[in-house]
Amino acid sequence: MSKELIIDVIYLLAAILFIVGLKRLQSPVTARGGNRIAAIGMLLAIVATLFLNNILTPVEMIAGLVVGGAIGAIMAKQVKMTAMPELVAAFNGFGGLASALVASAEIIDSGANQNIAAYLSVLIGTVTFSGSLIAFLKLSAKMTGNPIQFFGQYIILSLVIVSMIACIGWAFLGGELILSLGLLSGLALIFGVLIVIPIGGADMPVIVAFLNALSGLAAAATGFVLSNTALIISGALVGASGIMLTNTMCVAMNRKFWQVMIGGFGGDSDEEGSAALVDGRSITSTTADDTAIMLSYARKVIIVPGYGLAVAQAQHQVRELAEVLEARGVEVKYAVHPVAGRMPGHMNVLLAEANVPYDALYEMDEINHEFESTDVALVIGANDVVNPAARHDKSSPIYGMPILNVDQAGTVVFLKRSMRPGYSGIQNLLFFETNTRMLFGDAKDSVSELITEVKAV
Ligand code: NDP
Repeated sequence: MSKELIIDVIYLLAAILFIVGLKRLQSPVTARGGNRIAAIGMLLAIVATLFLNNILTPVEMIAGLVVGGAIGAIMAKQVKMTAMPELVAAFNGFGGLASALVASAEIIDSGANQNIAAYLSVLIGTVTFSGSLIAFLKLSAKMTGNPIQFFGQYIILSLVIVSMIACIGWAFLGGELILSLGLLSGLALIFGVLIVIPIGGADMPVIVAFLNALSGLAAAATGFVLSNTALIISGALVGASGIMLTNTMCVAMNRKFWQVMIGGFGGDSDEEGSAALVDGRSITSTTADDTAIMLSYARKVIIVPGYGLAVAQAQHQVRELAEVLEARGVEVKYAVHPVAGRMPGHMNVLLAEANVPYDALYEMDEINHEFESTDVALVIGANDVVNPAARHDKSSPIYGMPILNVDQAGTVVFLKRSMRPGYSGIQNLLFFETNTRMLFGDAKDSVSELITEVKAV
């Protein structure tokens, strides 16, 4: 068997492993295994490319794998769940940069000024790099999460686009190669910054999913430049899944992608707190012991986790509370909204970390009809995903977003620290309903108190 054939067979095997791995990411039960399968596929592709093509000696390759693998493992182990979107943003950025550098080297090496795939790779890869860098800085609060908009932004953006096209055209017509490549890279860097700065910190996960898709497209373009099938397939898979994820997130948030790109929505909330009195109606505060009595004598309780649960890292306490209630004969279920938290699957991952059984977790469509027959809906650090304004207030930014019907439960108890709004920055009138109780405090402290009080009932 020729070396080329062996490499092609390994690439085919790697592609199959990528697809099987992706498929297994569909459910939390199989996701870890899926990740491992895809990682094995990537290892095979790397070994086939670098070793069988004699690009690196075995020692160099093992040294690279050990150093790179160790850096990746340490980063993945240390990152907090709430910081996962920024880690993904950083990875996307490096992926884009790698594609752009490889394509640039190929253009300079071969002197081929009419290689459209190479220019696309430089363009998309560099935009991904600078865009992801801004997303990383915004998400990690190293720069303001508020949308940055200024007069003439779209004119500058249009000029940059025209200049990038002109650069590629110039290179094609035989213009100075290094200069046109340098100009294109510089303009692409500016373009990446310009498209991400107007987007509010809280919309960033959607943009991170989009940049992920771009990093895949850049890799696929580089695959064409190098005639590397594995890179084309893996890049196309990342591109397609990133675009599908971007679309899924927009649909679940009831926002159009262009609305996200225009920006100006969902910055850092610096509001001290919303009013505790609206239209003459006030909120009803409650205490942990009152809530504990209500929970202890309930037949059925639905726990609704949200972003605040992740901030408070209260997942272990929540599982314990559920167990204490179940030991008293209370039926406990978890209702998971598709965009609760700040990244897809955020609540599933958090609750899985605390060993909450998967079969206790219900998706919105599965559980929404059950709130009517529920005694207590315990809303822990969630806000927008239960805000009834989404149903009827056409002026609300969340109008049309499907929500969890917690307002239909006998009593709704909100565990949060203050009257501050959530991601969308809007008031939740459910706080003022007669069947709503507000249990103020950090979610971890409040749930710990509830456990103690339920045990004492
Ligand atoms: P929200 O952002 O609507 O609300 C979170 C609530 O948690 C806040 O009201 C806050 O109130 C409370 N909170 C914060 N920290 C704590 C704490 N330590 N203890 C107790 N409470 C706390 O969250 P939801 O999960 O309801 O909604 C998610 C929102 O994010 C949606 O609007 C969604 O569209 C958006 N989004 C989701 C993405 C995803 O992929 N999941 C991606 C991008 C955006 P207080 O400060 O008073 O404590």
